Amino acid sequence: MGQHLFFFLAPELQRVPDGLGPTSQLGLKPSAMKAAHDRCREELECFFLSPREQANNPSTLLIAAHPDDETIGAGALLRRRPNIKIIHVTDGSPLNAGDALAAGFTTREEYAEARRKETVQALAQAGIREDAITNLQFTDQQLSFQLKEVTERVLAVVRQFQPEVVLTQAYEGGHPDHDSVAFACQMARRAASFCLCEFAGYHAGRAGMEIYTFLPRAQQTQYAYRLNAGERELKIRMIKGFTTQERTLQPFVQPEVETFRMAPQYDFTRPPHEGKLWYENFNWGTDGATWRKMASQTLGEILHP
Ligand SMILES: [Zn+2]
Repeated sequence: MGQHLFFFLAPELQRVPDGLGPTSQLGLKPSAMKAAHDRCREELECFFLSPREQANNPSTLLIAAHPDDETIGAGALLRRRPNIKIIHVTDGSPLNAGDALAAGFTTREEYAEARRKETVQALAQAGIREDAITNLQFTDQQLSFQLKEVTERVLAVVRQFQPEVVLTQAYEGGHPDHDSVAFACQMARRAASFCLCEFAGYHAGRAGMEIYTFLPRAQQTQYAYRLNAGERELKIRMIKGFTTQERTLQPFVQPEVETFRMAPQYDFTRPPHEGKLWYENFNWGTDGATWRKMASQTLGEILHP
């Protein structure tokens, strides 16, 4: 996977420093920042211990844009977090019914319902009960245009569940909805206290889409967990459970590793990397320049209401 793995923290947990130190959390004094950083690092280092090995079982909220993102990013982790709650921000069904029709449904609502059902079944394999899954019912591919509403809903959810850890998506230009969720979580952290961690999704690379890894410019220590045989099988079964997404998820069906890190402090007015973003290869609702314009506007509304 192009990374040098070393420094064993737990039997199968490896730490990957990538050069720079931790970035600061806005508004915190250096001593408080260090304490928050240390606490987050400890949380991350516990991610792959079994529930019995964990000193405490921190309440964890996984917030993802689409049903299936949690499986791609953290499918093997889910089973080790029996009390994890999953929040899907969108129903996975775009306004344009093209995806619904291609999957054999006649309306976007039918398609959304099919995605909901398959998600419940896929996550049940990792021991996640239906009542631990919440859908915020935004429309797929529309989050860029509702960044303020998404942020408010995410903050409301965080206040409701009071998690110690929020695990979410990285700002990486893979999908505009993923970047929007990264934005919302980062904004929510300004108003609530939790440890914000990320799972790796996908983004543009030199030779096409890069998966299961963060962008190389990341300034955070990364924690790469190599799946054992049982976890690989489980994750493959879960991925295959998303039958409406069979073609989209094809690149992910040989999972080897899941990668996590503390969320960096992003500047959402700048692109996540130079060059064409992965989602600019598709008609997924927006392009990078429009997304950043929406983000700048929303930042203005949130920071200077
Ligand atoms: Zn997604």
